[in-house]
Amino acid sequence: MQNKISYFFKKLENDKVQCTLCPHSCTLSPKQTGLCFGRKNIDGELIAINYGKVMTIADDPIEKKPLYHFHPGEYIISVAQFGCNLRCPFCQNYDISQNYVDAEYIDIDSLYRILKNKNRKRIAFTYTEPLMWYEYIYDFAEKYSDKIDVVLITNGTINEDPAKKLLKFVRAINVDLKSFNHDFYKNELKGDLETVKNFIKIAFDSKTHIEITNLLIPTKNDNPEEFKNMIDFIFSISPKIPLHISRYFPNYKYRIPPTPPEKMIEFFKIAKEKLYYVYLGNFFDNKYSNTYCPVCSNLLIQRDFYDIYIKGIVSNKCAKCSSNVDIIL
Ligand code: SF4
Repeated sequence: MQNKISYFFKKLENDKVQCTLCPHSCTLSPKQTGLCFGRKNIDGELIAINYGKVMTIADDPIEKKPLYHFHPGEYIISVAQFGCNLRCPFCQNYDISQNYVDAEYIDIDSLYRILKNKNRKRIAFTYTEPLMWYEYIYDFAEKYSDKIDVVLITNGTINEDPAKKLLKFVRAINVDLKSFNHDFYKNELKGDLETVKNFIKIAFDSKTHIEITNLLIPTKNDNPEEFKNMIDFIFSISPKIPLHISRYFPNYKYRIPPTPPEKMIEFFKIAKEKLYYVYLGNFFDNKYSNTYCPVCSNLLIQRDFYDIYIKGIVSNKCAKCSSNVDIIL
């Protein structure tokens, strides 16, 4: 089966349908496709036309996702579909996120066999927006999450009911929190900040391991006061949530110069005032990607790009002061 009836939609008059998966609530006439490219009204049913369409399969270091506190040093199979429900002008994967692109159909059992053959225990749905690949991921996760750790690298833009239903089977996520400014989310990304905040809270409450990434873009989301509000929000959920501040480089429609290194360090220091684990990504100085004990500052994990050295952890505790280290090994 290559097309699948969507799990979340309402039938309307005259064969129209309304998708209820994400806050865009696309209302579609027959033959119309949703904003994310992955759902289409076919004869009055909402069909997930992206079901099983796998654009990419890669074997990545888990740190590349980025996930620093979830099985550090291991590899994870990474797969992607096409499409996305945001319109970020700086998207690194815009060639497959902002288009319908046909791809090979791989059913969930074949996907599981690929993991088995490569002897991998984890899968990341990533690169584009996995939440728009909902039915395929849900079917895979429902069947195989007792054997395979399911991981999502996501923009967190999904309605509450589908989020709760899926997160029951998801072991870890990294959520892009792209700004703490409602207008930036709405006008530049076609997204909604409150939806993403709510998704982060739901994921935390569902006991899914969570890390957050913020791409720091000069003049767009580098207001220190707004950033402090973001840190307060993360802190209010848990200071143990790792935050990755990622350095921006020009991409897609944005031609703004890269984030200055001193700005990265300034924001690192702001975040560290409240959060236990803060990292700089796409950054030349590796010392900002190491993990230190939040109690005694002992070096727990040294990272040299994708070379990982677990140094100061014994029985999931800091080898020096015996504090818990908040890392799933
Ligand atoms: S999931 Fe896609 S089709 Fe559904 S509301 Fe969101 S953007 Fe529209």
